Amino acid sequence: MVSDKEIAERVLQDVKDHYVEKTPGDLIKIDIAEKVTLAEKYVNPLSILNEEDAKNLILQGSLEMTTYKVQQGDTLWDIAHKQDMSVEELIQANPQLKSVDKLALGEIVNLKTIKPLLNVVVTKKVVYSENIPYKTETVKDKSIVKGNQKIKQTGQNGERQVTAEVTYKNGAKIEQNRIDEKIVKEPVNKIVACGTKVQLASRGSGRFLWPSSGRVTSPFGRRGRGMHTGIDIANSKGTAIYAANSGTVSFVGRKGGYGNLVIINHGGGFSTYYAHCNSTLVKSGQSVSRGQKIATVGTTGRTTGPHLHFEVRVNGQPKNPISYLGK
Ligand SMILES: [Zn+2]
Repeated sequence: MVSDKEIAERVLQDVKDHYVEKTPGDLIKIDIAEKVTLAEKYVNPLSILNEEDAKNLILQGSLEMTTYKVQQGDTLWDIAHKQDMSVEELIQANPQLKSVDKLALGEIVNLKTIKPLLNVVVTKKVVYSENIPYKTETVKDKSIVKGNQKIKQTGQNGERQVTAEVTYKNGAKIEQNRIDEKIVKEPVNKIVACGTKVQLASRGSGRFLWPSSGRVTSPFGRRGRGMHTGIDIANSKGTAIYAANSGTVSFVGRKGGYGNLVIINHGGGFSTYYAHCNSTLVKSGQSVSRGQKIATVGTTGRTTGPHLHFEVRVNGQPKNPISYLGK
């Protein structure tokens, strides 16, 4: 009870202000859950409270807080035990404690659970930022050997700004609804490349592409007193020559009777030779893919007309290319 209506209204406003100040965000609305009516009454003058006391009575549920000053060596359990309270009750009554494990000497501990007389419900607009975790994307990559992986792009979390309507009852959060969200920073996906390249040579299947079009004018094998170490594929000067399989160029240049020669190392002991080239389009050390144009047909070296002299070697030994080529 307070002395007049004006004070009573101020007390209610003070109670509301207390919770508005205690909670973060911008106020949307505030309500007292109970229906409050102000009534005029004749009372004992001794029971009239001043504004401050009336406010504390509503906030705490009682006029006086029973408190305890922490002594040397006290634990929450000791205090609770002495007061015939449970530790949980004690923690509930003391939301201000920074640590329940270590009490500061002289710290004031409430010995009564706060039960406000009125329940004040505050709704506020709260803006906060939140992480957007990045996703991991897997892509196939035929330049990487099957079974191997490579991180192509590292992931980065994004950030969004969330606007929420938060409802607090007596200062404690009871409900939260998102009303808006805005992306401040888009997350960057982590990209992992998974290899799909199958190494033919290392698997021993050894099948090569025909390196050029044309007619086979001279087969592999014994020729006169010597040995023909490859096959000759005849076509007009300038016809494209392709890599019979993927690999690394191990030689480009002039070499005796071969004329302009390209050698590709395919791994697993396999290499292919492309001789009598008119022009070469690759450099030593370069990686080439299966079917890549590497040279053109010519007449360099010892020839009687434009043709490609093509060899397949296994560990340096010439083999019959026909048994490694497609039909
Ligand atoms: Zn030849």
